[in-house]
Amino acid sequence: QQAEIGVTGLAVMGRNLARNFARHGHVVAIHNRTFAKTQALLDEAGDEGTFLASESLEDFVASLAKPRKVIIMVKAGPGTDAVIDELVPLLEEGDIVVDAGNAHFPDTIRRENALAEHGLHFVGSGVSGGEEGALNGPSIMPGGSRTSYESLGPLLEDISAKVDGVPCCTYIGPDGAGHFVKMVHNGIEYADMQLIAEAYDLIHRGTGKSPAEIAEIFTEWNKGELESFLIEITATVLAQTDATTGQALVDVVLDQAEQKGTGRWTVQNALDLGVPITGIAEATFARALSGSVPQREAARGVLPAGTVEWHRPTSADDADAFVEDVRRALYASKVVAYSQGFDQIAAASTEYGWDIDRGAMARIWRGGCIIRARFLNRITEAYERDQHLPLLIADDFFVGVIDECLEAWRRVVSGAALNGIPTPAFSSSLAYYDGVRADHLPAALIQGLRDFFGAHTYRRVDREGTFHVEWSGDRSETAVGGDFK
Ligand code: NDP
Repeated sequence: QQAEIGVTGLAVMGRNLARNFARHGHVVAIHNRTFAKTQALLDEAGDEGTFLASESLEDFVASLAKPRKVIIMVKAGPGTDAVIDELVPLLEEGDIVVDAGNAHFPDTIRRENALAEHGLHFVGSGVSGGEEGALNGPSIMPGGSRTSYESLGPLLEDISAKVDGVPCCTYIGPDGAGHFVKMVHNGIEYADMQLIAEAYDLIHRGTGKSPAEIAEIFTEWNKGELESFLIEITATVLAQTDATTGQALVDVVLDQAEQKGTGRWTVQNALDLGVPITGIAEATFARALSGSVPQREAARGVLPAGTVEWHRPTSADDADAFVEDVRRALYASKVVAYSQGFDQIAAASTEYGWDIDRGAMARIWRGGCIIRARFLNRITEAYERDQHLPLLIADDFFVGVIDECLEAWRRVVSGAALNGIPTPAFSSSLAYYDGVRADHLPAALIQGLRDFFGAHTYRRVDREGTFHVEWSGDRSETAVGGDFK
């Protein structure tokens, strides 16, 4: 008997992916550098399906039906390269190697090129949903060649999450496209979590409600248009009591957010592509600020708060209205963050020649992954209406959503500023919204300044061509390139 698919790397993710395949009736070859993990899988879950376990990579490869399909699920970075180097000499032309770890997409492009020289298909695939998703149905974002998807796709779709019977897995695009899209997914996750944290902070400090009371608010929110995995688990985390102190868990957790790097990669790439993903960037910087311990210590009690009167809601009705304002600000900011993320995918798709279908992305993120949310259906619909939609928030549905939220959003952001509550993601998203819809931006002045100190030239609103003012001479304007019309 030979296996349809193999998984090497059996830590939490690989182990659960292998079990997911087995539970779906597929014969799975399993391997791990240290055999103990393979043995543990057999001992604890061996009866869930048919596993072909090997101690050596040679035996593992030999246990696979051709063309072989090998999923690598090891620690991203040098670990992945080490496994690839060992695997390649054992494989044959036409075999498919899948890296399902969190690789940076330039590494995926490099690896695909290297494996193509051996006639091997290399598929960089994003997998989201953590440990639980890997076992019960993740969202899967495979890149690589279309040919490889023909035989690999059905297996991956089979184990992916399903929403309304539709698999949360689709072919994304060539080489690094799958890992790129997973990276932006994680960037959006950063923005989503920051927005949720700001909403919590505003309600907590604005109304004095306890974490347990705010948990109930999030539970309510999860019944409406904000329904999503992150809102749901926010209620659970806020309701958690610390066993040793009896306090709310959020009150005893150190307020320094950590990061593994996908948010940073997303922002770095957005800078390269010139795409303003301000929500994701602020969320990434907010984590960095929270971890800036010496700076925070130097500032605490030293930097004045300002003397603006504290506008706390005074009655229960006022508090309810404030909470509703925060909900609307959260929804509008979230729509902006997703819109920016999808802009980045569009820009990358053009830049790297990937031809990514953004509507399909929203569709496969509806289930299995961390940012799964009801409103992703609306994003898919928007891209179905117009596949080349230049700006998600300019789609009729989202124009309506933001219109309903706008006044509340402005009240929340201005109130937060007056009261000294930091809302980097709420405020930067609103600034983006006002910037992108502006008739005229002060960028005109920046162009004037650039022309002054660097003769960088400018273009005019009324004529074609490029111009420069003789700032150090008679200040007359000259046409530098193009024609006067
Ligand atoms: P880890 O990232 O903790 O990696 C541990 C696994 O990698 C072990 O099987 C280990 O083998 C193997 N490994 C490390 N270095 C080497 C090497 N040089 N040669 C061979 N094997 C090596 O495991 P996770 O399951 O947490 O994650 C796997 C991948 O999935 C990572 O890329 C991660 O970023 C990604 N991912 C993780 C998610 C999560 O929620 N954890 C979610 C989505 C993606 P050994 O047992 O011998 O040490």
